[in-house]
Amino acid sequence: MIAIRTPEEIDGIRRSCALAANLLDALARWIEPGRTIREIDRRAGEMIRARGAKSPFLGYKNFPGHICVSVNEEVVHGTPRDARVQYGDLVSLDLGVVFEGWVGDTATTVALGEVSPEARRLMEVAEESLYFAIDKARAGARLSDVSHAVESYVTRHGFSVVREFVGHGIGRSLHEEPQIPNFGRPGQGPRLKAGMILAIEPMVNLGRPGVRILRDGWTAVTEDGKPSAHFEHTVLVTDQGPEILTVADGKAEEIQQKLKHGGGP
Ligand code: MG
Repeated sequence: MIAIRTPEEIDGIRRSCALAANLLDALARWIEPGRTIREIDRRAGEMIRARGAKSPFLGYKNFPGHICVSVNEEVVHGTPRDARVQYGDLVSLDLGVVFEGWVGDTATTVALGEVSPEARRLMEVAEESLYFAIDKARAGARLSDVSHAVESYVTRHGFSVVREFVGHGIGRSLHEEPQIPNFGRPGQGPRLKAGMILAIEPMVNLGRPGVRILRDGWTAVTEDGKPSAHFEHTVLVTDQGPEILTVADGKAEEIQQKLKHGGGP
């Protein structure tokens, strides 16, 4: 069963999502070449605690970090370590909070300085595919319409979607029903209803879709060693269309424009 949230529950999730978005925004601006991934994780943990929240990732199946930091060919679930991020890296940051009992979850990929044109394009297409898919999260649509939107957008632009990891429902727990793959035929699965809350998160590879897990048991990397990008929003289905909940202060207009252009020209 996919939960249908009451207005009070939605208010709670809305607050946790806004907090997650603000923290991710601040962290993304704080990162610079030379910082170690362990420092970035520690900083995120401090920021989350300073706001009276907790990380839903820390300790999840023994995950060792407050957030996931995944660099270049790392797809998702990168763990704290002493490696430094460098000029020219693509850095994916996945940040969740538990605040007053509700979870919010969001991710972005940032380029540190100049990256190759194809890496820049990968980031754009991955982000556009998220907005293209969010636009399909409408009452009356089917869940796989969202999944299909990611895949069709990404493949149309010559990149590939990761199939091993999925988006998810969210609420009291980080991962609730349903699972939201980033691929599939449209018109399948449950019908979306107002009050459902979905964390939609395309993971897009520049090369082939295959991934493998490093020896830390967590970090997923592309099998072909080419870069990957990851974007995520937590989204409320309403009778008036999708509403993105993970919006940082001052970013509402920008996000609304991206959603309106749902996947660019
Ligand atoms: Mg997620």
